[in-house]
Amino acid sequence: MQTKINTAEEAFRYWKKTPIAERIAHIQNLKNTLHEHREQHATLITQEMGKPITQSLAEVDKCGVLCDYYCENAITLLQTKHIPTDEGHENFVTYEPLGVLLGVMPWNFPFWQVFRFAIPSIIAGNVVMVKHASNVPQSAESIEALFVESGFPIGIYQNLHISSDKVAEVIAHPQIKAVSLTGSEAAGSAVASQAGKYLKKSLLELGGSNAFIVCEDANLDKAVAVAVNARMQNTGQSCIAAKRFLIHETVFDVFAEKLKQALSHLKTGDPMDPETQIGSLARLDLAEDLEKQVNKSIEMGAKVLLGGKRNGAFYEPTILTNITTEMPVFKEETFGPVAALISFETLEEAISISNQSEFGLGVCIFTEDVASLRNHISEFNEGAVFINEMVKSDPRLPFGGIKKSGYGRELAEEGIKEFVNIKTVVIR
Ligand code: NDP
Repeated sequence: MQTKINTAEEAFRYWKKTPIAERIAHIQNLKNTLHEHREQHATLITQEMGKPITQSLAEVDKCGVLCDYYCENAITLLQTKHIPTDEGHENFVTYEPLGVLLGVMPWNFPFWQVFRFAIPSIIAGNVVMVKHASNVPQSAESIEALFVESGFPIGIYQNLHISSDKVAEVIAHPQIKAVSLTGSEAAGSAVASQAGKYLKKSLLELGGSNAFIVCEDANLDKAVAVAVNARMQNTGQSCIAAKRFLIHETVFDVFAEKLKQALSHLKTGDPMDPETQIGSLARLDLAEDLEKQVNKSIEMGAKVLLGGKRNGAFYEPTILTNITTEMPVFKEETFGPVAALISFETLEEAISISNQSEFGLGVCIFTEDVASLRNHISEFNEGAVFINEMVKSDPRLPFGGIKKSGYGRELAEEGIKEFVNIKTVVIR
């Protein structure tokens, strides 16, 4: 580990002085190399964590879109900002890299999450070391190989082959300047504690239990079509997936029936088959955990409208009704294809139920009366509010949560400015 940190430190010394246009040119090469091997990377993702192949290809392509976004915009986003004052002094703000950063990354989007952290960090002049999730080692190797193959100087991007109990040691190391983690609450809390102990910056992208609210006047067919994707994408293993469906009581039965029909027609099977829409969960223990959450909720009174059974790591697309706020499927993050349906009478009640979650990543609301809903946007305690659209990330928009969903922002201008020293300069 020490050798790798030394290599990173040496790389940082010249990388921070490398003109930004040159750093961008390297990322452009990386993007081209990524694209040349897109099928190979997607296949690896599918083989390692079971994501249906069409979604793995989409993940790889989205990494390319992220590279393009920062290649096109980083110079503008990081340019020196001049701030005139009355006294006539010269004042400006520069954005300088921090140094060696640590990324602790998950398995659910083994390429995307790593790119989302590494690309803006590297363009800003930092160098990164990445501890990947232990169940996606080949994706990890491919990403590191991409940096080598596309001509990056040694030490700008390095994998750390360590178990999670060694992460604290890395954070404590004086050469590590900050840490970014995407993963569970438990991992986030451990990493944030250690970073806090050593007064280092941390950024956390943790879980979510997003509400998907369907108002009385919503276009139900559109809402159902989006709901399927919002809950079932990546076989439900996404932090920003819709997990709690709050449906106005007057349309509850119709929505539930339409969702049931739509989910029953999803194609399950071999994740390498381009027709497959739902795969197995990434690990057996994750499917077992989901089963426990569902079974406990059923014991507490939830009713199964669809699915509810596990076969090894495969968990059926499932709809539960009769949900209370005390049930695990309401209180906890369900990382799999389970939709919990709850009815409400008024928008105020829906907002209140939505806000009862300990998480605060995002919410989406379906209504034909957008004008009225605008007045309520500030009442949602979330990092994102999407109206008539599912919550999804876009390199041009900041992404991140509040409450137990973490802190800090990735993507867009906010993301590239998380790991920089915002330096104020005043010249008299
Ligand atoms: P973890 O949070 O355990 O794993 C994410 C990353 O953190 C991995 O690299 C892991 O390493 C590392 N890690 C785990 N514990 C620590 C620790 N104490 N200190 C430092 N690093 C640590 O997720 P799981 O794979 O166990 O998934 C469990 C649940 O977490 C899911 O069911 C889901 O609810 C949530 N999750 C949320 C994600 C999101 O996108 N918000 C992504 C992944 C999981 P290693 O793999 O070696 O344990």
